[in-house]
Amino acid sequence: MSVERTLVLVKPDGVTRGLTGTILARVEAKGYKLVELKLVNATRELLEQHYAEHVGKPFYEPLVEFMLSGPIAAAVFEGQRVIEGFRSLAGSTEPTASAPGTIRGDLGRDWGLKVQQNLVHGSDSPESAEREIGIWFS
Ligand code: ADP
Ligand code: MG
Repeated sequence: MSVERTLVLVKPDGVTRGLTGTILARVEAKGYKLVELKLVNATRELLEQHYAEHVGKPFYEPLVEFMLSGPIAAAVFEGQRVIEGFRSLAGSTEPTASAPGTIRGDLGRDWGLKVQQNLVHGSDSPESAEREIGIWFS
């Protein structure tokens, strides 16, 4: 089994709520290795690249506005099957539907219809990880 890398973002809700350390600690505690870390004020251009697959969807514009609303902690974690492993730690997209024990399930909540405020992003495949790490850590 090969060692993978994945892009993890603590979204502005997580940073603003003071959960950056808590979230990164949960990923480290699982045994994944933190290999890159920085705080970023994203630009619209960067987000358009990052969320290219979602351009044109109804939630795209609110998502971008949300991701521009405050700093983002961008990290790269390394480990065996870390792409799948981090998404398992993160929980499903909607905080209310995420299982207890996951980051979104334990710490996230749905603020009205603001499903986009789900604390974290994790790459969903080796190809996405490579592409996204290149965008955030070029
Ligand atoms: P995930 O982050 O779980 O991989 P997606 O890639 O499908 O989810 O969507 C990217 C992000 O867009 C989500 O994390 C969430 O912030 C936002 N999002 C997805 N679906 C919706 C929706 N129906 N309404 C509002 N925001 C959404
Ligand atoms: Mg996704």
